[in-house]
Amino acid sequence: MSMLFRVGIDDTDSKEGMCTTYVGAVIADKLKEIGVQLVGFPKLIRLNPGWPYKTRGNCAIALTTRTQKHKIPYVKKIVLDTVERLAELHVETTNPGVVFYQGEKTPAKLKLFSKKVVQDVVTIEEAEALAWEIGAETHKFKLGRGIIGALAAIGNTLERDWTCELIAYRTPENRGTPRKVDAASVVEMSAETFPNTFDNLDPFTGEIRITPHTPCPILYGIRGESAEAVLRAHKLVKALEPIERFIVYKTNQGTDEHLRRAKIAEVKPYWSVIVKGKVCGAPKVIPGGHVIFRMRDETGEIDCAAYEPTHQFRNIARKLVVGDEIVAHGGVKKRPGLPLTINLEKLAVLKLVPVTRKINPTCPRCGKGMKSEGRGKGYSCKRCKIKAPVDAARIVRVKREVKPGAFEVPPRARRHLARPLIRVAYPRRKY
Ligand code: ATP
Repeated sequence: MSMLFRVGIDDTDSKEGMCTTYVGAVIADKLKEIGVQLVGFPKLIRLNPGWPYKTRGNCAIALTTRTQKHKIPYVKKIVLDTVERLAELHVETTNPGVVFYQGEKTPAKLKLFSKKVVQDVVTIEEAEALAWEIGAETHKFKLGRGIIGALAAIGNTLERDWTCELIAYRTPENRGTPRKVDAASVVEMSAETFPNTFDNLDPFTGEIRITPHTPCPILYGIRGESAEAVLRAHKLVKALEPIERFIVYKTNQGTDEHLRRAKIAEVKPYWSVIVKGKVCGAPKVIPGGHVIFRMRDETGEIDCAAYEPTHQFRNIARKLVVGDEIVAHGGVKKRPGLPLTINLEKLAVLKLVPVTRKINPTCPRCGKGMKSEGRGKGYSCKRCKIKAPVDAARIVRVKREVKPGAFEVPPRARRHLARPLIRVAYPRRKY
């Protein structure tokens, strides 16, 4: 009899190398070699982007197989041996975890846990207790903190929204050297497949975004709306070095799954939030080129920051004035001695307050601008000795430099989980 057997893996990499997605790709290929079929696409699940102990992008992976009972021990052996062989176990902060779960349905408690790992913080004890309760088998390497992500990846059913990423990996001898991908082919690929693929290029600088800058085994990753879209794009990209293997993951990247709507008084560090309110402190540019303003709702006030790496996006934040109605999206940060801050990922400008400017009257004789005589004292022309009353000044409306609309940080500054506005403008359609 065949049964659904699921595998979750996390925390195999370090800043020096490896990538949990690669471990997943090697395992998927090995399972195919022994005739174990995968059900659906392997999952790449991004976890809480605000979690401070992540290595890079806080991702975990999960694979689902349908296999005969007698093959399950082989599956387990392949998974555990591969993690042991590839994980950066010599690095102190790498603490892999593997979870096996046998069951047709995803328990509701596991789904809730998965959501919490994306939106909040959990403990390893919570993960262990849940695994015990639902009958999942956990394997801890060293401290085994990876069981948190491994369990969360199994339990994330990607029901609400999902995207795909095709990841191509480098051969071992090339890892750590500059990546060789024909840039013109990426530009052509993007022109041909966008918006069914997205984030291929930075719209402002034209920089290629599919190749990472870390020493990991990834040559490139193409993100898109469907497996068909990323596979087509992959065929259009010219790699100028050998590709060891590639895999298509179904993922929560680009879905905004990390965000929760909140009132300012509820906001907590490590959360990513959507907060509606009004600007109550004018934007300031602080050293380093970061833009900070304050907003409020009926429950409190909070700082919002558009940091220097968000480039043009800062200009939107800079042009806001007190009273403007906005919706801020972003991760909540607490820094010692500073108030809680929302690191902006997206900003919706709902309503702009009118901004006016007072223009002094002109002298009826010489035509020059009259000077104020002091508060509430009217105006005068010193040369012609002519006076004008207070209400002779004209109040004119100043054109606002920002328009209502939705704005986002550029791809280079975007979190993996943040839904690009292009996905809102062009919801998924059949490729
Ligand atoms: P990469 O993205 O390069 O694969 P990473 O950024 O995913 O690496 P890990 O090396 O996996 O980082 O380390 C993150 C660790 O934190 C994992 O052990 C994971 O189980 C744990 N973790 C992730 N999210 C949470 C959370 N919300 N609460 C508690 N622990 C978490």
